[in-house]
Amino acid sequence: MTERTLIIIKPDGIQRHLAGRIISRLERKGLKLIAAKLMQIPAELARRHYAAHKDQPFFAPAVKFMSSAPSFLMIWEADGSVDMARKMIGSTFGYEAQPGTIRGDFGCSQRYNLIHGSDSPESVTSCRMLRGSTAKELVRKSKTLPTFLLKIPAKTLGTERQHSAEWPVKL
Ligand code: GDP
Repeated sequence: MTERTLIIIKPDGIQRHLAGRIISRLERKGLKLIAAKLMQIPAELARRHYAAHKDQPFFAPAVKFMSSAPSFLMIWEADGSVDMARKMIGSTFGYEAQPGTIRGDFGCSQRYNLIHGSDSPESVTSCRMLRGSTAKELVRKSKTLPTFLLKIPAKTLGTERQHSAEWPVKL
């Protein structure tokens, strides 16, 4: 089923100039880029994003890192995009991630692991990054109508055309 996933190139990925190579992998695989925004994630939003880890010792440093410099937030679409992107991203720690995955090929750090990908369709729909002003900006920059953001008032979304009907492209 066509599904959308939130991918974030974290501050280390931007600073190491890896954004292009990461995006290229997702495009080459066949995922479709729906919306994107380069932004410095406010600390409060990063705290909410990682709320599931709030009792972990790495919570505060992870929040500090995520809000320290600009990240690239993107929405990608494909059948089964959540699982597919997670497989391409690899396991959490760079030094354990399989070669061939993004984390496995480009880093060996625990915290500075380059990229975030939604871990379930539910986490996409409930994602704090996709609510409020961030979501509205992502939607505005998109030429599409992300169906999982339908809680946003229609007047915000305007009359932009939905393009998922064009996907997959018949070759
Ligand atoms: P992910 O879904 O693979 O990104 O992993 P998690 O949701 O479990 O963790 C969120 C983020 O917190 C990870 O991507 C890491 O940046 C960081 N993190 C997780 N576990 C640890 C840890 O044990 N130590 C450190 N330093 N950072 C961690």
